[in-house]
Amino acid sequence: MTQQTQESRTGRPAEGVGVATRDIHLSFGSNHVLRGVDLDVPAASTACVIGPSGSGKSTLLRVVNRLLEPDSGDVLFDGRSVLKDDPDVLRQRVGMVFQHFNLFPHKTVRANITLGLTRLKGLSKDEAAERALVHLDRVGLAHKADVRPGTLSGGQQQRVAIARALAMEPEVMLFDEATSALDPELVKGVLATMADLAAEGMTMLVVTHEMGFARSVAQQVLFMDQGRVLEAGEPGAVFEAPRTERLQRFLSQVL
Ligand code: ADP
Ligand code: MG
Repeated sequence: MTQQTQESRTGRPAEGVGVATRDIHLSFGSNHVLRGVDLDVPAASTACVIGPSGSGKSTLLRVVNRLLEPDSGDVLFDGRSVLKDDPDVLRQRVGMVFQHFNLFPHKTVRANITLGLTRLKGLSKDEAAERALVHLDRVGLAHKADVRPGTLSGGQQQRVAIARALAMEPEVMLFDEATSALDPELVKGVLATMADLAAEGMTMLVVTHEMGFARSVAQQVLFMDQGRVLEAGEPGAVFEAPRTERLQRFLSQVL
């Protein structure tokens, strides 16, 4: 049995791979947005990226999943450069969850998930439906398979978006402020789903303002400012003993 079949039966994630970037630079016109970003997310670990608005966090995630090409530098999966790989192939190895989940409102929850599986993964309708249920079950929403997204809370919709990404069996998951658009009482459920995923061994790169999540789930926290990783380390060190005045000031504003 292949690993992929195994996953679709059990709902366990595929073995995650480590992700790294080396000296990434990227400009939009004269705006030098990423100024030499290095990061290392070991396989099956979670890294949280924190930092002020405009510091380049979203741009960095888009470089990692090849939605953007850097001007220079390298992106590595399990130590191997992927910048020469076909971006479409690479993108299938990466699941991404955004602030706005962009589910199709006129399709059922199940159909939102099966669409990519039949179109991009070549699964039959039955296989896709079965796999969709496995992943909906994983986020606690198997009983909502037949409803339309609009009947769900924002938190449930975001968990559907997570299930949709997981159903593609990614090796790495990227989250870009996945809870920022949610009402406060809905944030917890989504963070719990993300924490479960981390505990199951998914490799995760998570841009978040949820410092509690970063502290309790991540093995590593990276503070970005003006296109650079200014500080990185274990959550305890970053939160308890920030070395730069810039991070001290940021933490005093968000904690
Ligand atoms: P963050 O996610 O940390 O808030 P972003 O990565 O979204 O920061 O943005 C970093 C900088 O890049 C900002 O100055 C932003 O205006 C600029 N930027 C982001 N995306 C684009 C784009 N597609 N075109 C031009 N400028 C962009
Ligand atoms: Mg952003």
